[in-house]
Amino acid sequence: MRKIAVLGSTGSIGTQTLEVVRNNKDLEITALAAGNNVELLEAQIREFRPSLAAVWTEEKARELRIRVADLNVRVAAGMEGLLEAAVQPESELLVTAIVGMIGIRPTIAAMKAGKDIALANKETLVTAGHLIMPLAREQGVRILPVDSEHSAIFQCLHGENRGGLHKILLTASGGPFRGKKKEELKHVQVEDALKHPNWSMGRKITIDSATLVNKGLEMMEARWLFGVEPENIEIVVQPKSIIHSMVEFVDGAVIAQLGTPDMKLPIQYALCYPQRRYLPGERLDFGTLSQITFEKPDMENFPGLGLAFEAAKAGGSLPTVYNAANERAVALFLDRRIGFLEIPELIKACMDAHKVLENPSVEEILQTEAEAYERIDAKMRSREGGRGTGK
Ligand code: NDP
Repeated sequence: MRKIAVLGSTGSIGTQTLEVVRNNKDLEITALAAGNNVELLEAQIREFRPSLAAVWTEEKARELRIRVADLNVRVAAGMEGLLEAAVQPESELLVTAIVGMIGIRPTIAAMKAGKDIALANKETLVTAGHLIMPLAREQGVRILPVDSEHSAIFQCLHGENRGGLHKILLTASGGPFRGKKKEELKHVQVEDALKHPNWSMGRKITIDSATLVNKGLEMMEARWLFGVEPENIEIVVQPKSIIHSMVEFVDGAVIAQLGTPDMKLPIQYALCYPQRRYLPGERLDFGTLSQITFEKPDMENFPGLGLAFEAAKAGGSLPTVYNAANERAVALFLDRRIGFLEIPELIKACMDAHKVLENPSVEEILQTEAEAYERIDAKMRSREGGRGTGK
């Protein structure tokens, strides 16, 4: 039995993780954590019978305790609940399928407790990769990528000598607005941005895919996971998301991983690593596929991607500013309080105003996050005539 705890079990990655667990009888759930969706969490608890469940607020925890009073499950709340779920003694692997920098502390706690990490929560590596990767080596724990591109790279590197890796070719679909110019992007609506051409994902990451910020975050994630400098990561637009990413070796050989766009593949690969198992679903049919096309990314009309390379090259606390400013800006866009093009503008304004800390601690990362949020909130207050932005 492989015992697994899942943070963010009610989300897009979380529910697909549970689908994989449902189909693999030797995987067992020991803890589940979610934010607010107690109805779905209750159903998950009834099906997977974890001994611990966590939700974000005490109020939701009270509600959940009543709902599952007939079951043998302890319900915890807040950051303490997330930390408890992360370090719970019976689990071996923690799936971090939660959104945002809130994932940093539980991930570190789990690693210190000797758990392997199936990492979806890219924000943790983007902002704290300099702390996470040395800690993984020190603790002898594995970081198994869940993001499809990183899983692809991980699969391509399997059995290879890492010294032979020359370059990562990180593929991107280009998102729903590929080919559009700034003039057209000015007026796009939330509904348009939420329509990803190939993948069905959570709301925040879907907007990030439309701005290409997601590819910027993935570039920073790849940099830490595979020990490659940003200049050796090339973004390749491949609109149908058939090639999930590629690696180029020093002898010029390029190895790619291909498949239909289904997150259950990388999730199952991480949960069952190093085994490959049968996964039901559509298969690639090269007869009907007929062609795979490639383009360079459009950095001019999608400046969020270029800003990511700037943040990665400067390093230190700048990736945190990039990530936090984006998180706040995306929330404002989803609330229809700013336009699509203002997302990268706010990121840039926050990056320009920040004095980089070289080797930030977790506290400094979280402080930097709070400062970026406050900078944007202050801008919004003055723009909207004193109304608060909330969170
Ligand atoms: P979703 O928005 O679909 O789900 C987020 C999950 O996190 C939900 O279960 C939510 O709970 C939970 N959550 C949010 N806030 C808290 C909190 N304060 N405490 C506890 N739980 C919380 O996100 P995704 O599944 O799309 O993404 C999750 C992570 O995986 C992100 O970092 C994303 O970048 C990454 N990722 C996602 C991919 C995808 O295909 N979706 C692909 C690759 C990476 P609730 O809903 O109950 O409030």
